[in-house]
Amino acid sequence: MSGCYLHPHTPAVANCEDCSQPVCTVCLAKVNGKPYCEHCAVNRHQQSPFWAGVFSLFVPGLGQFYNGDLGKGVAILLTGWLILPWVYGVIDAVLTAQAIAQGEREATTVAPGYIILAMKIGVVGFSCTYVVLVWTLVSFIFTASGLWASRP
Ligand SMILES: [Zn+2]
Ligand SMILES: [Zn+2]
Repeated sequence: MSGCYLHPHTPAVANCEDCSQPVCTVCLAKVNGKPYCEHCAVNRHQQSPFWAGVFSLFVPGLGQFYNGDLGKGVAILLTGWLILPWVYGVIDAVLTAQAIAQGEREATTVAPGYIILAMKIGVVGFSCTYVVLVWTLVSFIFTASGLWASRP
C-alpha cells in the first residue's frame, strides 16, 4: 500500500470506500464501520440507533425506513395499530441501526442526509402537534368538568 494522499510520507492504512484514495490513521474517518477519507466522510451518514428508536416510537415503521428496510417499514406502518408490531418495530429499528453503525450490515439503502433531516423535523413537529392536541383536550375536559361540578 502506498502513502497517504495528503501525507505522502506517512504509510496509508486503508483506502477510502468512495474515492479509493489511500488514507493514513490521521486522515482516516470511519462511518458505519467503513473507511473513508475526511472529504468523503462528510457525505456519509453515521447510522444512529437512538434516532431509529425515536422514529419508530413516534411513527410505526419510520425507523425501518430510516434503516432502508422499506418493505418491513410499510408492513409495520399498516399493522402498527395492533401495538405488538409497533413494539417489535422499535426494537428491530434499534438493533438494525446498531448493526449498520458497526458495519455488520450493508448500508447502501440508507436514506440520504436530507431525508433523515426531514424525518427528524417531521417527528419533532408531529410530537409538538400531538402534545398541543392532548393538552387542549385535557384542559377542555378539566374546564368542562369544573363547570359541571360548579353547577348547583
Ligand atoms: Zn474519499
Ligand atoms: Zn494522511
